Amino acid sequence: MSVALSIVDAVEEKARLEGAGRISEIELVVGRMAGIQPESLKFCFPAAARGTLAEDAVLLIEEREALGSCADCGSTFPVSFYLVECPRCRSLGVRVVSGDEFLIQSITIEEE
Ligand SMILES: [Zn+2]
Repeated sequence: MSVALSIVDAVEEKARLEGAGRISEIELVVGRMAGIQPESLKFCFPAAARGTLAEDAVLLIEEREALGSCADCGSTFPVSFYLVECPRCRSLGVRVVSGDEFLIQSITIEEE
């Protein structure tokens, strides 16, 4: 719920700066390791947005795969947990290089 509220706060602030009457669409990018459940975010959003400029906005969520990079052999591969083994050399020296992003990609505003 708090995540939904912070999104609403952020987009409302931006929309106000641009003099928007309302927000019609919000596009988010959520990495698989961001710790955010897109389904629960979609579920919470209407309540969080009630009475704000984003009340009728469509929430679009783009999920991104998480990628790990092996410190030993340099391979890059999709990962789904933080503790992972390199599929090529079995090293545990794997660093998650992407997939923890959580950002507002764009908003569409309407002037009224
Ligand atoms: Zn490796």
